[in-house]
Amino acid sequence: MGTRSASDIRSESRFAVLRQLLSSGTATRQDLAVATTLSTATVANVVAELLDAGLVHVVGKGASVGRPSSKLAISDEPLRLVGVDIAETYATAAIYSLSLEHLAEHSEPLDDTDNQPRTVIAGVVAAVHGALARAGVHPDAVAGIGISVPGQVMPSTGVSVFAPNWDWHQVNLRDQLEPELGLSVGVHLDNPLKAVTVAALWLDNGPSTDTMVVVNLGTGVGAGIAINGRLVRGTCNNAGEWGHTTLVQDGRPCRCGRRGCVEAYVGVPGMQATLAELAPDHPAVALHQDAFIAAVAAGLEADDPTMMALLDRTCASLAYGLGDVVNLLNPDRILLCGWMFSALQTWIMPRLTELVPAQALEASLDVVSIQPLEVGRNPVTAGMAIFALEDVLARHGLPSRLV
Ligand SMILES: [Zn+2]
Repeated sequence: MGTRSASDIRSESRFAVLRQLLSSGTATRQDLAVATTLSTATVANVVAELLDAGLVHVVGKGASVGRPSSKLAISDEPLRLVGVDIAETYATAAIYSLSLEHLAEHSEPLDDTDNQPRTVIAGVVAAVHGALARAGVHPDAVAGIGISVPGQVMPSTGVSVFAPNWDWHQVNLRDQLEPELGLSVGVHLDNPLKAVTVAALWLDNGPSTDTMVVVNLGTGVGAGIAINGRLVRGTCNNAGEWGHTTLVQDGRPCRCGRRGCVEAYVGVPGMQATLAELAPDHPAVALHQDAFIAAVAAGLEADDPTMMALLDRTCASLAYGLGDVVNLLNPDRILLCGWMFSALQTWIMPRLTELVPAQALEASLDVVSIQPLEVGRNPVTAGMAIFALEDVLARHGLPSRLV
């Protein structure tokens, strides 16, 4: 690990105080010092900066040993954050308060046969303004906006480097989006894997300084990684593409152009391919992805043997992939999320408990817990709202450590 500068340490203290305030709602300086294990002097300094910037305010008096003390909370001034999740078939925008309370959201369908940047941008603009209208928020009240784009994206330049599903290469998305959105703040673009990891770092109840992996299971699959409490981006923001690690040598073709990737077996189209192998004439083989997963859930509910076999094969593949993650990173938590996982988690979790132990080294297995990520309704929009909050903090000269 590199040497941490004084400003790194200050940023980490700020993150710890804000995270604790978000989790507890209100707290005195003494409460914050106890919960974060920071010194009372450090907490007092951090709180003073946040009070000056108007990001934290006093909400009353708290009980304290010996003397009265102010109760603090994240500011409820009318500034709002926007988090956007662009997926293959929809764009969802959600409006959050500065304390990351989810206020309203709006989704726009995206036409998966027309993936021109112009069409996707129109969908995002409609989703954002629809959500603002639903929340009764004027566009001038938006203090920050984060937008998640599938594939490889560079937050520093706002360029979508490569989105395989849309065949996008080097699209200057931020430059095209900002004038269309008509907001007074710049857009933070990032990848959904980075968003879900940041959501877990800020909002999950576990320790904030640990090594964890957030596994996203949907149409595509991937992993967000945090080591010692810090988001891992890799050299070109492409870390975590676990879905494109090889599960089967010379296996099924994958949409990345290679063969045998984890995603080709565990992603929803991969599950459809497995069902086609198990039961080529099964009516669910030809369903659209959402309807397919609903049919799998209904089949599992009814103990349908074909769907049970599909679940077994999918979970076996997933267990091999997760075993590799455990052996490679030695995390203390693996948190699962994603729309496919949400729909099938009742059946997936017991299978994983059974199957992962055979795929991982015992010492690493002893320290890891594998559980669902529980940070509210959409960890991608929440994570992108957190990036927007980071932008607000940075504009006040108060960056947290994740920027
Ligand atoms: Zn692949």
